[in-house]
Amino acid sequence: MCVSKTLVVDILTTGKLLSYCKIVTDSNSAACFLGKKSTLPYFNLILAMGKCEPVIPPTELKRNASSTAKPKSSKQPILWYNVFKFSVMHLVGLCGAYVIFLCNWKTTAFNIVYGMVGHLGITAGAHRLWSHRSFKASLPLRIFLAACNSVALQNSIYQWARDHRAHHRHSETDADPHNAKRGFFFSHMGWLLMKKHPDVLERGSKIDVSDLMADPVVAFQKKYYRWTTLVMCYVIPISICCWSWNESIIYAYFVTSLRYVISLNVTFLVNSAAHLWGNKPYDVNINPAQNLGVTLLTMGEGFHNYHHVFPHDYRTSEFGIRFNLTTAFIDLMSLLGLASNLKKVSKETVLARRSRTGDLMSAASG
Ligand SMILES: [Zn+2]
Ligand SMILES: [Zn+2]
Repeated sequence: MCVSKTLVVDILTTGKLLSYCKIVTDSNSAACFLGKKSTLPYFNLILAMGKCEPVIPPTELKRNASSTAKPKSSKQPILWYNVFKFSVMHLVGLCGAYVIFLCNWKTTAFNIVYGMVGHLGITAGAHRLWSHRSFKASLPLRIFLAACNSVALQNSIYQWARDHRAHHRHSETDADPHNAKRGFFFSHMGWLLMKKHPDVLERGSKIDVSDLMADPVVAFQKKYYRWTTLVMCYVIPISICCWSWNESIIYAYFVTSLRYVISLNVTFLVNSAAHLWGNKPYDVNINPAQNLGVTLLTMGEGFHNYHHVFPHDYRTSEFGIRFNLTTAFIDLMSLLGLASNLKKVSKETVLARRSRTGDLMSAASG
């Protein structure tokens, strides 16, 4: 027969009374049901000699207690120029979606390939190389990736990598530039439409970016960013379409703009969708999740639960090149002798982490 009793639980790490649990035991004093009312939704309890004990170590509790706290309200004025710019950009992109039915099919095909090459400048370049230093790249490869990065037009490598390091260091807090706890729209695009949160500015200024400016390729791209993006994102692709198969310059412009808007939103999905939806085989205590849709769209960046647990693994997943064109590209560069020191997490470490903090019922793929 089950016996019910209520215990007040003192969270030792904070010294505050945060929750209570109702424990029902069977006649052998083994837990048969754990009901709870807690500000920490994952606060699992076990019954040990009539006491409640947290399953999660105190350090984890402290970290998660702060991450589940509501973001501090702070005035962040809207940047109306950015709102106007993004609105016009998306309207022009929508026109491009209509123009692809009128233009030469080669213009559409070319922009798909060109967009994928540009995306490498984000995934292999700004993200895996410059933000995380998960491999080393020779000068020709760094120049190529910087050029691709300018095709993508998503801020300079320096700015992108600085924001991304802040995102990993202060994930899901006010110091995270695209804090997903503020909802889908804010983490997707909204964060670019308003002034940065004071915590982002304050704690972001403490992020070490000295290595970025020490790289002459990054410094050059930062200095001439406007020109390199104008040439790589618009002038070159439009010129290729017009000169190679006599495409109308207007059609070429609209399809190029559509390519840009799609590439932008696809990258944004990593910050929004992959922080909101998916399974968590490596760590159930964090928001980033494995999201197959994002993985396919971003050439391998949707294994986000794995990536936040092991950010220095150049593959961003434990599955190598599966659904991961970016990893295949880095492997190819390594074969050609242009990339080296590819950092990997061992299978044993991954398994140990999965059994310690992961959701063992969920598949690791996706
Ligand atoms: Zn993330
Ligand atoms: Zn990352």
